[in-house]
Amino acid sequence: MFSLENPVGQLSPIAKKLIPQLKKLKIETIRDLIFHFPFRYDDFSKILTISELQEGMVASVRVKIDLIQTKRSFRRKLITEAIVSDKTGSIKAVWFNQPYIGKILKIGDEIFLAGKIEDYYGLQFISPNYEKVKGLATTHTARLVPVYSTSGNLTSKQIRYLVRFTFSLIKRLPEHLPWQLKRELNLIDLVKACQEIHFPTSQPELEKAKKRLKFDELFIVQLGIKFLRQNLAKLSSSPLKFKEEIIKNFVKSLPFQLTDDQRKTAWQILKDLGKRQPMNRLLEGEVGSGKTVVAVIAMLNAVANGGQVVFMAPTEILARQHHRSIGKLLKGQKIKIGLLSRSQVYLREKEITKKQMLKKIVAGEIDIIIGTHALIAEKVVFKNLGLAIIDEQHRFGVDQRRQLREKSGTQVVPHLLSMTATPIPRTLALVFYGDLDISIIKELPKGRKKIITRLIQPQERPKAYQFIKEQISQGRQIFVICPLIDPSDKLGVKSVKEEYQRLKKDIFPQLQIFCLHGRLKALEREKIMADFLANKINILVSTSVVEVGIDVPNATVMMVEDAERFGLAQLHQFRGRVGRGRHQSYCFLFTNVESLLSVTRLQALIKSEDGFSLAEKDLEFRGPGEIYGTRQSGMIDYFKIANLFDYQLINLAKEQAEKILAQSPDLKKFPLLLEKVSLFQKSVHLE
Ligand code: ADP
Ligand code: MG
Repeated sequence: MFSLENPVGQLSPIAKKLIPQLKKLKIETIRDLIFHFPFRYDDFSKILTISELQEGMVASVRVKIDLIQTKRSFRRKLITEAIVSDKTGSIKAVWFNQPYIGKILKIGDEIFLAGKIEDYYGLQFISPNYEKVKGLATTHTARLVPVYSTSGNLTSKQIRYLVRFTFSLIKRLPEHLPWQLKRELNLIDLVKACQEIHFPTSQPELEKAKKRLKFDELFIVQLGIKFLRQNLAKLSSSPLKFKEEIIKNFVKSLPFQLTDDQRKTAWQILKDLGKRQPMNRLLEGEVGSGKTVVAVIAMLNAVANGGQVVFMAPTEILARQHHRSIGKLLKGQKIKIGLLSRSQVYLREKEITKKQMLKKIVAGEIDIIIGTHALIAEKVVFKNLGLAIIDEQHRFGVDQRRQLREKSGTQVVPHLLSMTATPIPRTLALVFYGDLDISIIKELPKGRKKIITRLIQPQERPKAYQFIKEQISQGRQIFVICPLIDPSDKLGVKSVKEEYQRLKKDIFPQLQIFCLHGRLKALEREKIMADFLANKINILVSTSVVEVGIDVPNATVMMVEDAERFGLAQLHQFRGRVGRGRHQSYCFLFTNVESLLSVTRLQALIKSEDGFSLAEKDLEFRGPGEIYGTRQSGMIDYFKIANLFDYQLINLAKEQAEKILAQSPDLKKFPLLLEKVSLFQKSVHLE
């Protein structure tokens, strides 16, 4: 029995030969091949007679071969030339370095040719698609011809050829969408859509197929997310009452006034905490927008309710920084704050042993415990965990979050607050997080100095170095970011190792320069960051590992090499590493690329300080894969055809997912949908 899950090699002897190449495209089964959609089409649907052909036209002709021969040109290239004709005339066709064509096609054969007509000492087809006339359906000519993404020496034509073999099998795809839904949204059947997407019978039919398949992806994702959320909502948390007086007094005691956005988001969180349903909220805010104090308000409220709080940071250095700054903010309160990371264990400012700390946590003698992944790795048990906060949430996996949730020490799960400085455009948030509640801090605290951002031309490099020298002589510090760790000949892109050597030897031999990248051991990285923070290092040459939250008030220049290789939102994050102190700060973007698109894109960074609009621009210029943190979820790979800008279709998918779940919360009424949703949940890491 032939099944769609059979290995693709079973399709034909050619498919068997191509197994390794197909595997590179993640095509292993026949189903995979069917769902490897074309990324564009050549429109060869216009069938003309030879006499109708004109220079520049893209068309197909149905002709007979009068003459065909392969010869060697004076440049030793193999050229296959054919003279073909129909009733109205004759024309030449030429192929280069494909001598087998001269063997496949013979004088007298009836063929279709398809391609662009060029005038080169007379009209001719240069390297046209060709195919012998047999039966009615054509594959490579005389139609909208699908073009596929390929890898290595696999050609689009070969994929087209193989997809043709699946055509009768496509009919076996079961329809998973309920007919009412299809009727309501005017969607065509899955089988028809899969046939039309590969071999469209017309442009309008192709559009219908696209709509159906795009909807499918968005819909299954929405259904999957909502299905999961629904299960999470069955869990319960301890409601943490709003302790009005304590919170108001705390806010009054702050050395600054909260911004409106800080107030608003804090209030959203406090309301969530009061519910039995576990909070699952994402707090989004620019670097420096003051998320910490909002989190502290939530912590204070949780502790005032007698609950414990855990706060997880992605690195030791950040955990330490948070321990210090949160400690400062909560100075007046009678709250016990601990720090637990791999190498450091502190209770307030006093170092204690890990064993002592773990004992105190389980006894409920620590109110707020700040730490790193070590918190999960260590056998930490809480007495009564009410609230878990995760800083830079995309750095943590779903499993880690789940483990954190399971540590509560009681029957109920803690409320969960995630924080991120990465702005997520609205459509993406809807797609990736479904209904996850999001609070956004948009405005920055008043009085922030603007960071001066400049695009630096290659010839201005010496001037920039002179400027850096002056900054360092005034005691300031410099970040230099490179895209790669190791030198690479192929890309011609700057690497940390090379740049570090160059700066140390040729440019600033008298300065303290260190390099930092992900391949160094965690301890070593922490040590270097600590030294930089202590101003023992003048220039830090680094990969993008510095991007997350570190606060070095004395650093005033952020230099980014080959800036065009980074997303705007990421560059904006780099820029946020400086300007944290009282000194005027600068962001220098170096680029050798003169492409207008790159330059325009980078200029957006000079004009805008709004991370959200920069992230939207990233989406526009580079697609969703570039939005920091989205790639990790695996979700991007799930979307083969859906357009993540398509707000309307995303909303439709969301509405319909809600409708289906209202009809059948466990999806038992829709077994095929349930199957799809389970597959989806396995293929991505959801939360
Ligand atoms: P992030 O959102 O990047 O985590 P932080 O919470 O670290 O930002 O805040 C950055 C700095 O701004 C801190 O030094 C903090 O004390 C200060 N800050 C926070 N809120 C305000 C405010 N409303 N007015 C002035 N300064 C503030
Ligand atoms: Mg922060």
